[in-house]
Amino acid sequence: MPIPRDRRVHYPADWRGLSLWVRFGRAGGRCEHCARPHGQRVACLPDGRWYDPQRRDWRGPDGAPAPWPDIAEHARLRHVTVRLAACHRNHDPRDNRAENLLALCRRCHLVHDRPYHLVRRRLRVLQRRARGDLFLGRYPTTPGWPELRFLATPPSPHAR
Ligand SMILES: [Zn+2]
Repeated sequence: MPIPRDRRVHYPADWRGLSLWVRFGRAGGRCEHCARPHGQRVACLPDGRWYDPQRRDWRGPDGAPAPWPDIAEHARLRHVTVRLAACHRNHDPRDNRAENLLALCRRCHLVHDRPYHLVRRRLRVLQRRARGDLFLGRYPTTPGWPELRFLATPPSPHAR
């Protein structure tokens, strides 16, 4: 997963080597949470179960053996190519101790970072509202559809 440009300064210069060591040295090319293998295309279900072709059995989102899907669940099957990413257990990119780094697949990484993404989304919405307040006046705080002035294009600064 690419590092956002504004956060790159927090990562160490040898991050690439650290990431390679965590993903392929320590974790052996498998997600440290669900055990999906890096670079392989696996069958997945929306609840996180996935088919392990090596064991010829289904595994749960935690890597433990899981029940086979029924026909209705099988209809929602999709195939994904697993990509491992090194991530920080405490979400602090400056803390690069071995015990703070994890090799996670995309799904586990998104689940792990969910609280962080929710906070970031909330801040982004508040920043956009604050910027909108500068140009259009205060946004309504009552529920329902916004007033028409928030949906229409802003007036030209040259119009009187
Ligand atoms: Zn995983």
